[in-house]
Amino acid sequence: LALLQRTHSSSPPVFPLASPLPSNLRDVGPDSRLQGEQTCKSQRLMQQAGLIYPSNPGCYYYLPATVRAMEKLVCLIDEEMQAVGGQKLDMPSLCSAELWRTSGRWELMGKELFRLKDRHGADFCLSPTHEEAVTALVSHQTTLSHRQLPLLLYQITRKFRDEPKPKFGLLRGREFYMKDMYSFDVSEEAAFQTYESVCEAYRRLFSRLGLRCVKVQADTGNIGGTLSHEFQLPADIGEDKLLLCGSCSFSANVETLPSDQTHCPKCKTGTLAQSKGIEVGHTFYLGKKYSEMFNASFSNTQNKATVTEMGCYGLGVTRILAAAVEVLSTDDEIRWPDLLAPYQVCILPPKKGSKADEASSIAEDLAHSLGGTLPRLKGEVVMDDRTHMTIGKRLKDAKRLGYPYVIVVGQGALEEQPKFEVICQKHGETLFLSKDGLLDLL
Ligand code: ATP
Ligand code: MG
Ligand code: MG
Ligand code: MG
Repeated sequence: LALLQRTHSSSPPVFPLASPLPSNLRDVGPDSRLQGEQTCKSQRLMQQAGLIYPSNPGCYYYLPATVRAMEKLVCLIDEEMQAVGGQKLDMPSLCSAELWRTSGRWELMGKELFRLKDRHGADFCLSPTHEEAVTALVSHQTTLSHRQLPLLLYQITRKFRDEPKPKFGLLRGREFYMKDMYSFDVSEEAAFQTYESVCEAYRRLFSRLGLRCVKVQADTGNIGGTLSHEFQLPADIGEDKLLLCGSCSFSANVETLPSDQTHCPKCKTGTLAQSKGIEVGHTFYLGKKYSEMFNASFSNTQNKATVTEMGCYGLGVTRILAAAVEVLSTDDEIRWPDLLAPYQVCILPPKKGSKADEASSIAEDLAHSLGGTLPRLKGEVVMDDRTHMTIGKRLKDAKRLGYPYVIVVGQGALEEQPKFEVICQKHGETLFLSKDGLLDLL
C-alpha cells in the first residue's frame, strides 16, 4: 500500500494528499478477503474513499483519514467521560482464563470468545469486554475507602469477538474499538445516580455529533445485572428491532417484551411502532454480580469492608464512525458529523500544464493562510496535490470522501479580483468567493 499522506514540516500544517489508494484497491467488488461478508452503504463508501481496507473477515486496516476521524471521536468521548468523573486506563487485551472461569463466562461465552494457549499450555482469551479484569483490579486495592467512591474507570481499546457473521464493514467486526467504562459505588442509590449521569453523557455525546439516538430498555444478555439500556441509531440496516410508543417516551428493544405486545406497557394507551436500530452504546447496572465474585470492596464509614455496587457502560467507537456515515451519507458521497470529518477543508490546485497552472502558488498560499488565520482550521486543511489528475477527477474523490468544504483554485484565482470555487458539501451549495468572502464563510 502506498502511504496516503506525506508529512510536511511547514507551519501551520497543510497535509498533501500525495497518493491515495490506487483505484484498483478501492472497489468493493467480490473480494476473497471478505469471504461472502454482507456489505452496506457505509462499508462501500468507506472502502471507495480509501478510508478502510479489508484484511480478513471482520478485520480492517483503518487508513489515515479514518484514524484522524477516530482520534477526533476519541477526544469527544474522553471529554464526556471525564466530565462525569471517568479516569482513563488501559487494560491488557490478553486475559487469563482464570478470571473468566471465576465469573463462569469462560463456558458461557461459547464460540464468541477468541481462546488461545501460551507456551506453557495455560489458557487465555483476547478480551471481548473487561468486567472480570477491572473488578479483579479494584479488588486488589485493599485500602479503597468510601471517600474514593464513586470510582469510574474507562478505556478505549480493541475488543475481540468471534462473531458468527461479521458484516457491514466496521459495524460488525471481529476486532473493533470499544469504549468501556466501569463504575464502583458505595450503595445502590449512588450507583443509580452514576448510571444516570453516564446515560446523560451519552446523550450529550450523540447530540454534539448531530446524531439522532434513541435510548431503549434492553436485555442484560450474558453481562448480567438488573437494569440496562441501549443507545440506538435508527437505520434501515440496523439489526435490532425497536418498539417506540407513539404517546409517551417508552421505548424498548423487542427482546425485552413478550412477542404479542402491541400496546405500551407504560402509558397503557399508546400503540407501539416498530423500527430498526444500530446499537451504538449499551449501559448496565450490575449490582454486586462481579464485585461479590471478586470481592471488590471498600471500607465504609464504620471502617467495615463492604462490597461495591457496579455499573458498566460500552460505546462502539468504530461502530459509531461507520453508523454516522451510514445514516448521514448520500448514496455516493460521505457526510460526516461536523466534528468528525478527517479534514475540514480540501484544496484542489490546478492540473499541471493546464491554463491555470500559475495558480498553484496561490493554492499553497491559501492553504497556509487558512490554517494560520482561523484557529479552528489549524491542521485541518489538506491539499490534493495529485496535479497530474484533472480537477474533475479530484473533485469527485473529494466529494466522495466528504470534506465539509472543497476549494477549487482554477482560472478564477488568476483574475484581477481573484475568485475561488467553494463547494459546501453539507448544504450541497457551490459558491464563488473572494479570499475575504472565503474567510468569512469558514
Ligand atoms: P450486538 O448486539 O450488536 O452484537 P452487543 O450487545 O454484543 O452488540 P455489547 O456487549 O453491548 O455489544 O458491547 C458494547 C458496544 O460495543 C455495543 O453497543 C456496540 O456499539 C459495540 N459492539 C459490539 N459488538 C461489536 C462488533 N462486533 N463490532 C463493532 N462494534 C461492536
Ligand atoms: Mg454481540
Ligand atoms: Mg446487542
Ligand atoms: Mg449490547
